[in-house]
Amino acid sequence: MIRVIRDKYGLNNNLVLSVLEKIPREKFVPREHRAAAYEDKPLDIGFGQTISQPYTVALMTHLLLAVRPGVAPRKGEKVLEIGTGSGYQAAILSKLFGKVYTIEIIPELARRAKKTLRELGFRNVFVKIGSGEWGWEEQAPFDAVVITAGIEDEIPERLLEQLKSGGVLVAPVGKGYDKVMTRYVKLKTPAYWHEGKTQGSKVKVSEEEVTKIVRLGGSCYQIQEFGTFHFVPFVKGSDTLD
Ligand code: SAH
Repeated sequence: MIRVIRDKYGLNNNLVLSVLEKIPREKFVPREHRAAAYEDKPLDIGFGQTISQPYTVALMTHLLLAVRPGVAPRKGEKVLEIGTGSGYQAAILSKLFGKVYTIEIIPELARRAKKTLRELGFRNVFVKIGSGEWGWEEQAPFDAVVITAGIEDEIPERLLEQLKSGGVLVAPVGKGYDKVMTRYVKLKTPAYWHEGKTQGSKVKVSEEEVTKIVRLGGSCYQIQEFGTFHFVPFVKGSDTLD
């Protein structure tokens, strides 16, 4: 699995790879899929949901960490995950952040993930049942936020509000089946913002990364895109109401 992430996809973040190496992915997948736990694909975890492909987990983790020069664990910091699913991504994050808060809308999955994480001894992961669109107000602000379900329109406002200044949010975003892996960095100095001048301006950082600056709510964000991915949908509270 590690070799595939490094050689096939070219993700060379040794810190992320060393954490992936330590976490037993087979413990997070249903028994019938254990033999396939380290294969290069997502797996069914029940209730129509999936545990993401290992590369996707590795990339999202990398994007959360690599926002600053030098990639180091962020032990004093708090991360919020939306979409606990199996608990695997939360387990990875628990080795890199001080505290992991994770929200899952399907109660059975949340309970199962909680049990798995407890049995494996992850004590700095806190699982809550509910819709992640409201964030986790009591624990905010967060240094990082990761949404592991596909966002159709906009990042929920509360999640942006609960992000610290200088913080990073990673989410797959876009209409329809293809989602673009997107990283938002909340800028510390919104004062330099000039309506109409900076908005939507694109700066090419490298072949793969396109950066633009946008204003969302009361803050400015640097936005970068990292390719197309497929995710189960992010469910809004209003979707489940009759
Ligand atoms: N991170 C997970 C995989 C997530 S799959 C892992 O490591 O296994 C996406 C998950 O997001 C699903 O379990 C789905 O139920 C959940 N989800 C979708 N919409 C949500 C919402 N609004 N709030 C919280 N969880 C949500």
